[in-house]
Amino acid sequence: MAKKQFKAESKRLLDLMINSIYTHKEIFLREILSNASDAMDKLAYLSLTDDKIELRREDFGIDVRIDADTRTITVSDNGIGMDKDDLENHLGVIASSGSLKFRDEVEEGADVDIIGQFGVGFYSAFMVASEITVVTRKYGAEQAYRWHSAGADGYTVTECEKESVGTDVIMVIKEDEGEETYSEYLDAQRVAQLVRKYSDYIRYPIRMTLPQSRRKEGSPDDKPEFETVYEEQTVNSMVPLWQRKRSEVTDEEYEKFYMEKFHDWQKPRRILTVSVEGAVTYKALVYVPSQRPYNYYAEEYKSGLQLYSAGVLIMEDCSDLLPDYLRFVRGVVDSPDLSLNISRELLQHDRQLKVIATSLEKKIRGDLEKLMREERESYEAFFHSFGRSLKYGVLGSARGGASDKDALCELLLYYSSTEKKLVSLREYVDRMSEEQKYIYYAPGTSVAQIDRLPQTELLKEKNWEILYLTEDIDEFAVQVIGSYAEKPLRSVVDGDLELGDEKDKEENASEEKKSVLDFVKETLGDRVREVRLSKRLKTHPVCMTAGEGMSFEMEKYMRAVQPEVPFAVGRILELNADHPAFAALEAAMESDREKAATYAKILCDQAALIAGLELEDPGEYTDLVCSLMK
Ligand code: ADP
Repeated sequence: MAKKQFKAESKRLLDLMINSIYTHKEIFLREILSNASDAMDKLAYLSLTDDKIELRREDFGIDVRIDADTRTITVSDNGIGMDKDDLENHLGVIASSGSLKFRDEVEEGADVDIIGQFGVGFYSAFMVASEITVVTRKYGAEQAYRWHSAGADGYTVTECEKESVGTDVIMVIKEDEGEETYSEYLDAQRVAQLVRKYSDYIRYPIRMTLPQSRRKEGSPDDKPEFETVYEEQTVNSMVPLWQRKRSEVTDEEYEKFYMEKFHDWQKPRRILTVSVEGAVTYKALVYVPSQRPYNYYAEEYKSGLQLYSAGVLIMEDCSDLLPDYLRFVRGVVDSPDLSLNISRELLQHDRQLKVIATSLEKKIRGDLEKLMREERESYEAFFHSFGRSLKYGVLGSARGGASDKDALCELLLYYSSTEKKLVSLREYVDRMSEEQKYIYYAPGTSVAQIDRLPQTELLKEKNWEILYLTEDIDEFAVQVIGSYAEKPLRSVVDGDLELGDEKDKEENASEEKKSVLDFVKETLGDRVREVRLSKRLKTHPVCMTAGEGMSFEMEKYMRAVQPEVPFAVGRILELNADHPAFAALEAAMESDREKAATYAKILCDQAALIAGLELEDPGEYTDLVCSLMK
């Protein structure tokens, strides 16, 4: 019988498991039990939609048997089972993306304790077992198979007999080795303790035969005698975590549940339990992850919550339960009001489901507001990971999305020019001076770049706060927001600042100045749409502003997402008539028009550079600068 090799990356993980010095090897049991539970979930789900399956929920269960003579623990389930392909595909390779992630972490030399927090599935059994046999028969198949492996040298798959559908995982426990007392896993009481510790909430009975001390029949009351009898018992309490009262569950239990169920090796940032009774009744246990998953923006990322109806899983990733901007939220929803036999298509239109989704959205938003109020630092870290999704929510509200724009605005943060940190719109408005009519913002590529924008000068002088928009979608979102607390948002970069006290310089421009503007426009031709005197510059000679409505940052974004569509925002060159450069330009126009043209081009390029724009011809720019150095 030919031995098959594990796939390369699986082999590495396996080596790691076999030679693990990890101290909490006991978690292997949790992994095996959770696989058994998943397999039963799958068959239970099938049975909802397939009349041919005569299994009822009560018929499912897991048996854990221990045989000290053969040094084996056997975990049996009557779940969906595996066929030959399943065995090859699931036990021959690393199955879960979580394991892959784990592997990457190990490569980066991360703390090996993530094994404990997160588990690495089936393979973790090799931490305690020298040999594993899986005997399994898939639902609907006659043929059963035996998968066997004694570790890294490969595995075999052979045909075998099995009476019932389901899977037995038989682990031969390693011999004790110095400090390593593997034999503890052959002690039924100890194993039962582990079941309760890690797998208590599994919603199927986990049965074990355990020694019980019982009073001998007929033994006298004043001198009772006891005997040990062996009895089959259900070891776990089977109450799912989300059905228990929050006060009865520790944060640690919630965290463990999250990490195991949603394959995250980090604790969640936020745990929210919801229990609603009324028009619709449901319980929810939802989490905000600490970090953005590496595949968050990839197509493979599945958003949605697990949906249960009275403890029975009816859908794995029910995306209708969450608005898109909360797609980072993980968790479960359980409602007795949902019909079990409902098809996925119908579920989407289910009224109850919509009511739950709306209620849950409000709760989650409320919880995020609370996080912002009470744990600002943590909220900022959250915003760093998922703020972008919230901004997409704002955009979505413009497209008729259901989300409540005003409520979403409360969750946004922007870098502030005066506070030098992230601030909310509420905070901005609360400290606005009375004469200030607008909420000012400046778009750009980074805080440093915006800081240097000449257009921010006047406001900075007045010590008025500017919000820096550094993300590509920020400006689009801001346009949708329009105004907050009746204060319109206004860009400091383009258009009129309406500070109230600026001199109307342009109006008073003399004929001479106008001729300078005409000269510059003529020299630059199509490079700029307009040349005008600036009302907003103080110490800077020039700046580049965009025409109404669109900005350069929006132009960059549009070009990136739709490169095939030519898209250009009008460039308006603003000159500061009070700057010595302007005087130099004026003088050159009298004495040396070629030099004046050089000045004009350089000023234009400088303005483009400060605005974060690319020069069409950087070579020309450096040549021009050098020509002045003669
Ligand atoms: P994960 O459970 O994270 O996917 P595992 O390595 O624990 O990763 O398991 C790999 C896969 O093997 C499972 O996803 C499942 O398809 C299959 N599997 C494992 N145990 C069982 C079982 N008892 N019954 C049916 N399928 C199983």
